[in-house]
Amino acid sequence: MRIPICAFDAKTGILCAKCEGKLRSGHISKSDVDASTRLVNFANKHPQLDGVSLHRAYDVNGSTVLVLGSTDLISIRREPLLKTKLEEVFGKKVWLLEGDSSDRKILEDLLFPVKILTVNQVWLPDGSRLTKAIISGRKTERFPVDLDEVKSVVKRVKGIDLLVEFERA
Ligand SMILES: [Zn+2]
Repeated sequence: MRIPICAFDAKTGILCAKCEGKLRSGHISKSDVDASTRLVNFANKHPQLDGVSLHRAYDVNGSTVLVLGSTDLISIRREPLLKTKLEEVFGKKVWLLEGDSSDRKILEDLLFPVKILTVNQVWLPDGSRLTKAIISGRKTERFPVDLDEVKSVVKRVKGIDLLVEFERA
């Protein structure tokens, strides 16, 4: 597993001088350190996470966002209970995305298992840009994803101003 701090630091929960320096200079954040520690300890009991890379972690509105390496989500989704267990370890909602993906792929990962029809860029008269995602079907009572949370996550992690519409009203 690749993480923003040394594996040894993550195991002991104490940062070496080099990682402490990275934290102080702002190259890594407190969230990166916390998530690395939790994830490494979690991976001890879940070896299917051995190949996963944690790029960054963010705290957004009381949830944790883990930015992972490309294709890492495939191994995590293979076992549906893994994410539930991960959220127990973090003690909060965990959002997973792959950092090197296109905006569309990131939205698909955050909205999973909801299907996205199209993702477009929309330019406003003032020159600012919105990313508009259209979700197939209509919004049901049991819609499984908190869209306001998704908007906060993509804004924080990718700087995306997201607008979500449904195919049918
Ligand atoms: Zn270190």
